Amino acid sequence: MPRTYHIWTIGCQMNEADSRHLSSQLESLGYTNHTAAEDADLVVLNTCVVRQQAEDKAVNKLHRLRKVKEQQPAMTVALMGCMVGMKEAPGLKKRFPFVDVFMPPSDTAPLLDYLSDQGLYDAERSFDTREKALRDAIQDEEFALPSGLQGQTVTANVPVVLGCSHACTFCVIPYRRGAERSKPPTAILEEIRRLTAQGVREVMLLGQIIDRYGTDLDDGIDLAGLLKRVAAIPELLRVRFLTSHPNWMTDRLIDTVADTPKICPHIEIPVQAGNDEVLERMRRGYTVDDYRRVVDRIRARLPGAAIHTDIIVGFCGETDEQFMDTYRLAEEMQWEKIHLAKYSVRPKTLAARKLEDDVPADEKERRRKLLDDRQTVILEAKNRALRGQTVEVLVENRHKGRWRGRTPENKLVFFDDPRDLVGQLVPVTINHTAAYALNGELV
Ligand code: SAH
Repeated sequence: MPRTYHIWTIGCQMNEADSRHLSSQLESLGYTNHTAAEDADLVVLNTCVVRQQAEDKAVNKLHRLRKVKEQQPAMTVALMGCMVGMKEAPGLKKRFPFVDVFMPPSDTAPLLDYLSDQGLYDAERSFDTREKALRDAIQDEEFALPSGLQGQTVTANVPVVLGCSHACTFCVIPYRRGAERSKPPTAILEEIRRLTAQGVREVMLLGQIIDRYGTDLDDGIDLAGLLKRVAAIPELLRVRFLTSHPNWMTDRLIDTVADTPKICPHIEIPVQAGNDEVLERMRRGYTVDDYRRVVDRIRARLPGAAIHTDIIVGFCGETDEQFMDTYRLAEEMQWEKIHLAKYSVRPKTLAARKLEDDVPADEKERRRKLLDDRQTVILEAKNRALRGQTVEVLVENRHKGRWRGRTPENKLVFFDDPRDLVGQLVPVTINHTAAYALNGELV
């Protein structure tokens, strides 16, 4: 009987990519994917702690797993991701003693070493020098799509900048994912080639401040250069990247998006707040006017581009009037999407140490809902304007019997067709729209 694994992932695209890497490594060691955590030989929780809510989810899951492990003591339980961070493992070991292995974000070595030490991989794959062989074994397949995803995954996330060194006062990421470092272009291109060989047609390059890609490498490459090299891979149909920071968005990058058809006109550029005092307390490093100028530059060169943003409401000291500045900015910016969050205190951040979390919970919720409702109305109107237009859709998968795909601007589109269209670019005429999805007919 082959050993089975189950990975449970919450959080960002970076975590999804980390889980995919781990899956293919485990499969190269003879493990097979198992849909139920309850009776898998190995269960991995890949965690997120960017907000309290995400952390609560992980803790609940851990409590449930404790009971499963009591029933099945032979099960290996591993905890991965931002909950573990670079230094939290000893404290977590005390809190959750039944967890066998702790892995920092993007680092699967502790689990692979553990499985090796315990002899917990397929005996036929045993090697002379265990550790070296283990590493060699995963080298080849490290970037393969796990079996569970093969032939089904049209889009894949590819981390290119790990960690973050910016230290916004609200944000725990630098403490959990470590200092900023860029992956070498050769490794990135190799990973993407392997993905396209298995059917991937669109990649999303990832980094906390992705526009800083390459600043720590000595071969002079920048994000624009990397994007061009990625777009040159013939099988690849589309390239996206996130997240941008207003201070690092260069004209060279915007021009590259404009001049390279495969790079989608889709820019994720968080503003976080629409008021200068709040931005100052967040230590974002720009003013609202600076942000406006960046968006003007993008729109001048990429008129139809989808601009997405992130906003936190109820940050320390945010008055109602300051929140209303953010609300009015949403009206002015007409973003295609707002990732909206209520502020929650994160351990060790500057805000946790120096600022007071003084906006009451119900007030945070009121602000969130007000902005969310407004944004829904904005999107309903924007999408209504697409009715009758024909858009290009990259078909991803079936959803409730219909085809689901996205436009270059990352809008979700649903349509019917009896043929298998996975991974194809097709023209769809939009006939019905809502705030968060479009419906249409294949041309
Ligand atoms: N690197 C990105 C942020 C990635 S984290 C940037 O430069 O902005 C994703 C989003 O989570 C952030 O943009 C922010 O809106 C939200 N977030 C981060 N910390 C938070 C906190 N303590 N409370 C609520 N939302 C938070």
